[in-house]
Amino acid sequence: MSTQTTAQPLQGRVAVVTGASSGIGEASAEKLAALGAHVVVLARRADRLTDLVARIEKNGGNATAIAVDVTDKAALQGAADRVEAELGGADLLLNNAGVMLPAPIEELATDQWQQQIDLNITGLMNAIGAFTPQLVKAGEERGVADLINTSSIAAQNIFPTFAVYSGTKAYVTHLSRHLRTELGSKNVRVSAIEPGIVGTELQSHVTDQGALDWLEGSKETMDWLTSEDVAETIGFLAALPPRVNLQQVTIMPTAQAS
Ligand code: NDP
Repeated sequence: MSTQTTAQPLQGRVAVVTGASSGIGEASAEKLAALGAHVVVLARRADRLTDLVARIEKNGGNATAIAVDVTDKAALQGAADRVEAELGGADLLLNNAGVMLPAPIEELATDQWQQQIDLNITGLMNAIGAFTPQLVKAGEERGVADLINTSSIAAQNIFPTFAVYSGTKAYVTHLSRHLRTELGSKNVRVSAIEPGIVGTELQSHVTDQGALDWLEGSKETMDWLTSEDVAETIGFLAALPPRVNLQQVTIMPTAQAS
């Protein structure tokens, strides 16, 4: 951390971002790189990651792309091993890949339930399993590391037809609170970030007409957040002094009531 400057407070840090090929992950990778971190960008779409790395490097940053499906535990462990071998390990994990597929529960859209559970919970845990040893090592050796889990306001608030998604995000927030108690004393800051509506590809995967209508209608009444708004907050979290941990951050469009 000796090379820190005001403009680049994350110099010397290695930040892994899952779900970095679009939306919040992509914008956050760019932000963390602009703040000086070497970012490792993970997602399935290799071409999008290659473009992102080129953009970051063009802007003077450092980035590595690893195309991986986070639901594949062995593949993710392979990515973590590569980060360890090539970069000495990660000291920041933005655990962000996720999918939102609302539907009335009585429709029994069990494939979509499973898809959300597999990615939002199992994928998140695969990343925690693969990278926690590196975060703990960085906490010991460098005095600070970050585990930032992307949750949602759905973890707290009630949205009819979003029960399964909301359940996965309640898991993320509650897990994060618990992990703080184990990892905080090891200099690993654990945060859950809970955004309201952010305009990303997330909405493009929704198939339920009722939810699509609700989302479309909400655009009439509010300015949705942008991915960059959330990325600013993630950059802010990561650049705080090591003693400061924002346990949970709720970021909402100003006009979104709940
Ligand atoms: P996007 O759909 O734009 O981004 C999702 C990312 O996850 C993509 O990069 C996608 O890349 C990646 N991903 C999906 N499946 C996998 C997989 N199996 N393995 C690896 N990566 C995968 O949505 P957002 O940016 O909005 O979502 C990011 C997070 O923010 C999610 O956890 C979401 O729940 C949360 N969130 C979003 C809100 C919103 O309103 N947008 C509000 C609150 C929370 P690829 O397809 O290339 O693999």
